[in-house]
Amino acid sequence: MNPSALQRHRERLLTLRAEILSEGDVPFEPTRSDPTAVGSNEDDQPLAEMSQSIASSRNRARADVLARVVAALARIDDDPETFGLCTECEEPISPKRLDLMPYVELCVECQQAQDGPRDKGPRRHLRDFR
Ligand SMILES: [Zn+2]
Repeated sequence: MNPSALQRHRERLLTLRAEILSEGDVPFEPTRSDPTAVGSNEDDQPLAEMSQSIASSRNRARADVLARVVAALARIDDDPETFGLCTECEEPISPKRLDLMPYVELCVECQQAQDGPRDKGPRRHLRDFR
């Protein structure tokens, strides 16, 4: 990967990390993001509950992304040669995919191979919260 692209990804990762850290673990407030839900009726209840579970998985997703962002920054600093290569098959990850998620470690193929059979594993646990 050329140095300017690497630098660009590095800056995006730093920005992402700052954003995630600045958001902290503030509880999600469903009403604020949806002004139309102000009029209270019985339909609001399940909606609020749904928003809350979305918020919980969002927090988990954010913690997950943060860990990957930090790992990607470490890869850029320690081993810039391998940044942008799939950690599984060592093929270059598509630039489009890297632009979208500079912290990805796997190419699309390996990601799908991993997600496929494992889909029922870790993700199922997200439903375990009360
Ligand atoms: Zn791969």
